[in-house]
Amino acid sequence: MHKMSNGNQNQIMKLSKSSQIMILVFAALLLLFSVLFFFRSKPQYCSKVDIALGTTVKVVISSQKDPGLILEAVLREFHRIDQKFSVTNEKSMIWRINHSPDPVQVDEETAFVIERSLALARATEGAFDPALGNLISLWGFDRISDTQFQPAIPSNAQIQEALEKSGYEHIRLEKDVVILDKGVKLDLGGVVKGYAIDRGISIAKEMDPDATGYINAGRDIGIIGPKFGGDYWSIAVQDPRGESGEYIDLVYLKKGTIVTSGDYERFFIVDGVRYHHIINPKTGYPVRDTISTTVISPDAMDADALSTAAFVLGSEFSAMLLPVLGGQGLFVDSKQAIITSEGWSFFKEKQ
Ligand code: AMP
Ligand code: MG
Repeated sequence: MHKMSNGNQNQIMKLSKSSQIMILVFAALLLLFSVLFFFRSKPQYCSKVDIALGTTVKVVISSQKDPGLILEAVLREFHRIDQKFSVTNEKSMIWRINHSPDPVQVDEETAFVIERSLALARATEGAFDPALGNLISLWGFDRISDTQFQPAIPSNAQIQEALEKSGYEHIRLEKDVVILDKGVKLDLGGVVKGYAIDRGISIAKEMDPDATGYINAGRDIGIIGPKFGGDYWSIAVQDPRGESGEYIDLVYLKKGTIVTSGDYERFFIVDGVRYHHIINPKTGYPVRDTISTTVISPDAMDADALSTAAFVLGSEFSAMLLPVLGGQGLFVDSKQAIITSEGWSFFKEKQ
C-alpha cells in the first residue's frame, strides 16, 4: 500500500513537471504571438521631407517591403514633375510650349495633364484656368520665393493687356499637338501638385500594393492607405488666419485626397492690402472674397483644380457646384464665415 502510494506520488510529480514545461512553452508561445501581433497591428511608419513644386513635401509610408526605396521613388517623381511642368525652368516642357512660335508635339503625359486641365476649366466655366501664365508672371507669383523679388502692383493697362492673352479658350490640343494662340502662356500651378500626389500614390502602390501612409505636399494630402492598414487618418483644416497648428475643422479619411488653397500661401502686402496668387480669370486681379478653400475628392488633381476654382467662384456657389463635380468642400470667405457643401459632414465622423 505504502509502496504503491509512493509510486503514484512520483507519477504525479513527473506529470506535473511535464505539465509545467508545457505551460512554460505555451506561455512563451503566447508571449511571442502577442509580440508579433502587436507589431503586426501597429506597423512602423517611415517618413521623409523634401522641397519640390515650391512647397514642403512629406511622404509617410509603412510597408513590409522596402519603405526607404518607396519614399525615395515618390520624392523622385515629385522632382521629375516639378522640372517638367515648371513655368520658370527653361528646360521644362511648359517653357517649350510657352516659348515656341509654332504648335508643339508633346508626350502622352503632358497631353493628359493639359487635356484634364481643359476639362476642369470647362467644368468650372473657366474659374480654374490653365492659361493664366501672362497674368501670374505679371503679378510675379511665379517667382515670389526668389530672394530678389520686388513686389509691385501692375497697372490697369498691363492687366488688360495680359488678360487679352489669357484664357483656356486660347488652347487647343489636337491629338498630341498643343496649339496656343499667339502670346498665350500656360501655368499649371493650380493642378500640378495634385497630379504629383496622384502619381506618388500610384508609384507607392505599384511598389507595394499593401503599403499605407500618405503624401502631404504643402497641406495638399493624398492617402496611400489607411492608418495601420485599417484606421482613419485625422486631418485638420488649417485656420487661414490662425497661428500655425490652429485649425477650423477636423475630418477623417481612409482614402482619397484633401487639398487646400489659401491666400496665405503666396502673397505680398502693399499699403495694407494683401495681393495673393489666385487670380480671378475675369478681372486679372487676385480674388478678394475668399481666403481659403478645402476640397475632398477621390483624386488629387481634380481636388487641386476644384479648390482653385472654388476660390474664384466663392463659397455659396462652390458649395452647390462641388458635389456635382464629385467633390465636397469647406470654404472660408473674407469675413471668415465658414460654409460647407452638403456632403462634407460625412467626413466629420468615423463611418
Ligand atoms: P492652388 O494653390 O492649388 O490654388 O494654385 C494656385 C496656383 O495656380 C497659383 O500659384 C498659379 O500658379 C495658379 N493659378 C492662379 N489662379 C488660377 C486660376 N484662377 N486658375 C488656375 N490656376 C490658377
Ligand atoms: Mg489648386
